[in-house]
Amino acid sequence: MSSNHPDKTCARCGRRFSWRKKWERDWDDVLYCSASCRRQKVGAADRAREERIMSALEATTSKGLPLHDLAVDTDEVEFLRQAARRLAVGGRILMFQKGRPVEPRDIHGPVDVALPPSRSKCRFRIRG
Ligand SMILES: [Zn+2]
Repeated sequence: MSSNHPDKTCARCGRRFSWRKKWERDWDDVLYCSASCRRQKVGAADRAREERIMSALEATTSKGLPLHDLAVDTDEVEFLRQAARRLAVGGRILMFQKGRPVEPRDIHGPVDVALPPSRSKCRFRIRG
């Protein structure tokens, strides 16, 4: 048995999680941090939240947006946070707290989101 188990990123909530003994047989196949995340696989509503975040960032003229401003109500904030984590882990957005970039998988509390510099206002780059 290897003692070297790199952390993983949950496919549902985008949080970082670490190896545990209960997963020793199938760690390679583990995608979700918890039973709750495994039950709530990413669905159409979640993809729509990701697209809402992307559209808002592409439409804004400011450098970034407070993520909670994009939630339709307080019940949605955590779902939106998960969507933002998935986008950030995929490199599509950046997350900031108090103006500083943060590791998206470990954030707690209010967060701002922004497009990565290379993407801002240059969505279709044509190469010769
Ligand atoms: Zn999770």
